[in-house]
Amino acid sequence: MGHIILTGDRPTGRLHLGHLVGSISQRVELQNSGEYEQIFIEIADAQATTDNSGNIQKVKDNVIEVALDYLSCGIDPSKSTIFLQSEVPELSDLTFYYMNLVTLARLQRNPTVKQEIVYRGFESSIPVGFMTYPISQAADITAFNADIVPVGDDQLPMIEQTREIVRTFNRLYGETLVLPQAVLPKNESCQRLPGTDGQAKMSKSIGNCIYLADSPEEVTRKVMSMYTDPNHLKVDDPGKTEGNPVFVYLDAFCKQKHFEQYFKNSQTGELEYNDLDELKAHYERGGLGDMKIKKFLNYVLQDTLTPIRAKRRELENHISEVYQILFNGSDKARKVASETLARVKQAIGLNYRTDFELINSQVEKYNELHEMSEKKTKSR
Ligand code: ATP
Ligand code: MG
Repeated sequence: MGHIILTGDRPTGRLHLGHLVGSISQRVELQNSGEYEQIFIEIADAQATTDNSGNIQKVKDNVIEVALDYLSCGIDPSKSTIFLQSEVPELSDLTFYYMNLVTLARLQRNPTVKQEIVYRGFESSIPVGFMTYPISQAADITAFNADIVPVGDDQLPMIEQTREIVRTFNRLYGETLVLPQAVLPKNESCQRLPGTDGQAKMSKSIGNCIYLADSPEEVTRKVMSMYTDPNHLKVDDPGKTEGNPVFVYLDAFCKQKHFEQYFKNSQTGELEYNDLDELKAHYERGGLGDMKIKKFLNYVLQDTLTPIRAKRRELENHISEVYQILFNGSDKARKVASETLARVKQAIGLNYRTDFELINSQVEKYNELHEMSEKKTKSR
């Protein structure tokens, strides 16, 4: 049996460069490698309600945005099943049973959840649903028997939580659930792309993103106002490239072809910089201005985003069909999840309709009780 892959995104905004390098590129690669049995891609609208209960419209509006972004990046619905979480109610049932296998203290220790609580300004008013979302993610992953979950590194604690639930479940109720494994992008800069403001993570909820659907002008504006090394004030100052978002983005996006296209001297044919190491070395020793590297980054990003933007533009003329893709995917996903739920309930022992042994034993128990009481009455 080949691999089964599950990944997803919250429809809390359009997808950004962090999603592209952190997860979507890997999905497309896996999808096109053919080395898998099934790929499920979840638009986690139910999960997005956990921190948007007062703004469901935002979640609903972003479903189509995320779907358009997927398709324009090369997710192919004939190979990958794209579905809506809220269309698969079996996931809530699974979450309910898994909740008993996790302690509150364990949830409170989850570093990603802790960080997100700060970002969202919940302080002590944390919705219970939000607090338990790592459990619902375990339901999403196990419902489809996924063994591979391609994610950015902020998701590692979630996958660890899922693995603990799987182990506990299988120990208590017998081998039932598949143990999943997170797969991170090989390129370290892609595992957690920083925000344009220099914060550790580009994130929709923080609003420090370059979106895949941004216009060329918006991308240029955002790149040109990006945070760099705050101590690199004059061109001649030595600069830091490590942790400098402009260089992290270059690490994540630029390819050899970009040096050949952008840095070639039209007269001599020579390259001003042969590769990223040379560009970094120049910045570090001083003499290379922020403007110049930002212009190069802008060139690289425009080159990456132009085909995605064009595909999106075309898909925007077929919105009803895109919804239909989601509905078809959801029907397919629901079938698989309901099979898993039946297995899970059977393993726990909550399968009354098929538990003939239980029914027979109850019948026998009452027959015996009645026989005994009849004997007693006769003997009186
Ligand atoms: P939100 O702020 O609503 O949580 P988000 O921007 O964190 O949104 P998610 O939908 O939570 O996006 O994440 C979907 C997937 O994209 C996850 O696998 C996550 O690891 C990955 N991802 C998100 N942001 C980044 C990033 N900056 N770098 C790398 N991967 C990322
Ligand atoms: Mg997130």
